Order: sequence, then C-alpha cells, then structure tokens
Amino acid sequence: SVCAPLPVLGRDVLVPLVTGGEVDYAALDYAASAPALQRVWDDVAAYAPYYGSVHRGAGYLSQLSTDLFENARRTVADFLGCRADDQVVFTRSTTDSLNLLAAALPPGTRVFVFETEHHASLLPWERRADLAVTYLNAPRTPRQAVDTLERALAAREPYGAALVCVTGASNVTGELWPVRELAAAAHAHGARIVLDAAQLAPHHPVDIAELDVDWVAFSGHKLYAPFGAGVLAGRADWLQQAGPYLAGGGASRKVARRTDGGVDVEWHTTAARHEAGSPNVIGAYAIASACQALTEAGFEGLVAREQELIAAVRAGLAEVPEVRVLSLFGEDAPRVGVLSFVVEGWNSSHFAAALSAEYGIGVRDGLFCAHPLVRTLLGSEPQEPGECGSPEAAPGERSEVGVPPAEGWGRSLNAIRVSFGAGT
Ligand code: PMP
Repeated sequence: SVCAPLPVLGRDVLVPLVTGGEVDYAALDYAASAPALQRVWDDVAAYAPYYGSVHRGAGYLSQLSTDLFENARRTVADFLGCRADDQVVFTRSTTDSLNLLAAALPPGTRVFVFETEHHASLLPWERRADLAVTYLNAPRTPRQAVDTLERALAAREPYGAALVCVTGASNVTGELWPVRELAAAAHAHGARIVLDAAQLAPHHPVDIAELDVDWVAFSGHKLYAPFGAGVLAGRADWLQQAGPYLAGGGASRKVARRTDGGVDVEWHTTAARHEAGSPNVIGAYAIASACQALTEAGFEGLVAREQELIAAVRAGLAEVPEVRVLSLFGEDAPRVGVLSFVVEGWNSSHFAAALSAEYGIGVRDGLFCAHPLVRTLLGSEPQEPGECGSPEAAPGERSEVGVPPAEGWGRSLNAIRVSFGAGT
C-alpha cells in the first residue's frame, strides 16, 4: 500500500473502542481529507529536523527551507503544466485560494457560478459588494452545463472583467465536469475561468494549459499531503494588479515612513505578494512530495485502479434495492472515486454511524458543503441552513433526524458519501 499505516489512535484505540474488537478499519472519506501517502510522511519526517524560516535567514537551515519552498513551487508548476508566466501561490487551502482570487478580481467583475458548486467556490464572491454574481441553475448533462454558461455569458455582454468558477469533479457525486468546454465558452465571451480542482487533482492529471483555464485551486489535505497548505496557480496579471491578500512581512519589498508621517509600501510583484507572513514550508513541501509521488506512480494506473473500485462499490450498492446513488449527469457518467447515496427507510446519519461503529467503515454523512447541490439531488425543500456537514450538527441531537423518510427518496435530509483514491 502507498498509504501510511493508521496512527495509533486509529487502529489500536479507536477501532476497539467503537467496535469492541479488532477489525480492519476502512477509511472511505478521502473526499473530506485523504490520508498522507507514505512517501509524503517519509519526506516530511526527513526534512522536519532541519526546519528553518523561509526567505528570512542567512543560516543553513533557512537557506535549505527557502530552497525547498521555492523548489516546491516549481514542482507544483510542473504538476499543473503551468504556462511560463503563471504564478503559483501557496495558500492554506482551496477555500483560501478562491478567497484570495475573489479579493484580487478587478472592481466590478461579473462572476458566473453554478449553484451546484462546493461552498468554497460558491461563496467567496459574495463577500465583495462590487462583484455581480450570476448563479446558474443545476445542469442535468455536461452539454447543458456548457449551454447554460454560454447563454448566461451571451445575455450579459458587453461587460468588463468576468470570471467563471467551476469545479472539475464534484465532491458529492464524483462526476466530472466538462472543464475544457466551459473554458472555451468562457474565453469565447471574453471571460476568464478558475478551476476548483480540490476533488479533481488527486484523481486526474490537471493541466492548466491543456484545459486552457486561467487559474487552478486545490488543497494539500485532499492530495495526500495534509499539512495545512493549498495552491492557487495561474495568470499573474490580476493577482499582481490587486493589493496583497494579507498585508505584512514577506509581501512587502520596501516600506518607508513618508515625510507627512504615513508609510509608503512597495509590494512584491511575485507570488510573495500574496504570501505575507512566515510561509508554511512543510505544507508546501508535502504538496510537492505528493505531486511527485502521483506523477511517478502514474495517473494512468491510478485512474484504472480507481475505476475498478468504483465499479465494485457500484455493484455492491446495486445489490441493495433500497439504495439510490445520487447523480446530476446520470449514474453512468464518468466520475472519480466519490459516490453519494441514500438508503430508503434509513436516516443517513444513523446509517453512516452504523457503518463506522459496527463495520469499521468511515464514511461521511451530510450535505458535504454543497447544500444547494445535495438538496437538488435529494429533491428536498430548502431547509434552515445547517452546518457544513449534517444539518443536525449539534452533538446529541442526532435523534432529531432519526425519522426515516415517510415516503419516497425526496424526504432524506442528507446523504451518505463513500470516497477513496490512491492508496485505498
Ligand atoms: N472544493 C471542492 C470540490 C472540495 O471538495 C473541497 C473540500 N471538500 C473544497 C473546495 C474546499 O477545500 P478546503 O476545505 O481544503 O478549503
């Protein structure tokens, strides 16, 4: 297995605790966070004793860390097939990357986003009052997605700056979105496009130039590198025209008092402009290590193995007549290793809890930070906004939703998700 052994709390303590005996624990929640690859653990462990500050020291450890950090940037650029003038900014996560981009958009940018997006790609644009956000209805085929976007873009011309934000693979259904076609539509109408690759990058090669997207965002913790870092890569111009995401050391090249008593600041024009503060070198290094491990393992083999697992899970689920697999584009649509489903007569939270406690299978239940999408898939009415996960997130209140759906599928409040990837 390329997967690290479970930490002590997983196998030795947690499993006997919840099951009362030794069982194999299957962590099938990679779409929330994927365990580190063994290679990533090893690389991080080898470097950790030599940790030093990045860009902030003349000593050996600082130089080493600076080199590792900047090499990590190049590795990520290679992994994503970046163009010569693209910049790779290290962030905390996909959420952070998309908030950074939202903060950097030219004033008055019009943003187009499908209502089916993960909240990380749905919500950052709301935070700037000057951005005009157009929410696009859930498409039912990839072709419809492209047509819907085309129509929305055409209806709003002429405009100034415009951005389309789209997820490459759904963290709810696993379905692949027609990124290349959406990018072509965006560009044909003078818009730019950012790809939320949080769910795609761990499962498929993501080539920024080949997909012809302007930016890509992803998170280390879903790419088998759970050390608190993420990436925003792509066009430098908008990033450099905007003020720094955070103001502080590292982002500023020159700071001087003015004669009128104020302060003049010259900001960096490199990725450092948006990386103020001491960078997370271990996080960046871990991401680079994962990128290398995946490249060396070869996506072709990883995809083939994952498709086998998907087929096995689907075949298993198909044996249970009460199970309905959720999908936007149809059950047979191409997908990565993520499947969400509901079980008639079962509350999803109870079902997921039973899978963990009785069978040692760790899955997730809830709305998966994509409330509008899951509600569309369940056919349920909008409810009171709950937490990112289950609507009944408060501890001890699970029994509140212990009511099985009275009739039909549409009554399920939330769903169950199984997800896996390299190392499963
Ligand atoms: N987009 C998608 C498609 C995701 O799956 C996730 C994580 N579940 C995110 C964005 C947000 O990632 P993070 O929580 O690491 O910011």
